[in-house]
Amino acid sequence: MTITEHIAAVRREMAEAARESGRSERDIFLVGASKMNDAAACQEAIAAGVNALGENRVQEMTAKLAQNAYDGAPLHFIGHLQRNKVRQVVGKAALIQSIGSEALLREVEKEAARQQLVQDILLEVNIGGEEAKSGFAPEETEAAAVLARELPHVRVRGLMTIPPVETVPHGNLVYFEKMHRLYVDINGKIYDNKLEYISMGMSGDFADAIRAGSNMVRVGTAIFGARDYTK
Ligand SMILES: *Cc1c(COP(=O)(O)O)cnc(C)c1O
Repeated sequence: MTITEHIAAVRREMAEAARESGRSERDIFLVGASKMNDAAACQEAIAAGVNALGENRVQEMTAKLAQNAYDGAPLHFIGHLQRNKVRQVVGKAALIQSIGSEALLREVEKEAARQQLVQDILLEVNIGGEEAKSGFAPEETEAAAVLARELPHVRVRGLMTIPPVETVPHGNLVYFEKMHRLYVDINGKIYDNKLEYISMGMSGDFADAIRAGSNMVRVGTAIFGARDYTK
């Protein structure tokens, strides 16, 4: 199957899950996770109607930007971001989804101020409380949201999470539901219900994520095929 056919299949599954949760497919934002796929693949995905492309690695993103890989769609940064690479992402990505520490938040503020722009971000939550994973602990997220609201050069548009690797089918539903409750709570308490995005769900679990309230899914393998890590 081609990328275009894969996207059509993903869209059908998204639409079904959206209907089951009382929404329409237009309510769910599809980010193509294009890591390790070349500029031509990115352009095919954009032509087939992904809402954005998401990259994980700064170096790869920079190289593909120079090849006009993302022309025609917004670019999101979705991967782990080191503080010393913030300068290469602020002002390039329409949305940085992976702001998971106060230090990183402050670094983005500083760089956005330097560039005289306002950077859209999502706060990343470590919903499974995993030791090795970045992101704010669920109980820290409210304080992070309060801090971010005071920073003039960042604009929080929502929350993002990467749950633990699933060990049984639908195993992440509990995390998606917990994340949705946190999103609703913080949105109401701190943002006057003006947050727009709850980014959760990948190739293996995006339908469950949508059923639990996600409105932004990040899908790689199901669009581009398996990634070749031997290269
Ligand atoms: C790679 C990646 C995805 C997509 O993963 P698939 O399982 O290939 O769909 C989603 N989110 C992030 C942060 C990723 O790094």
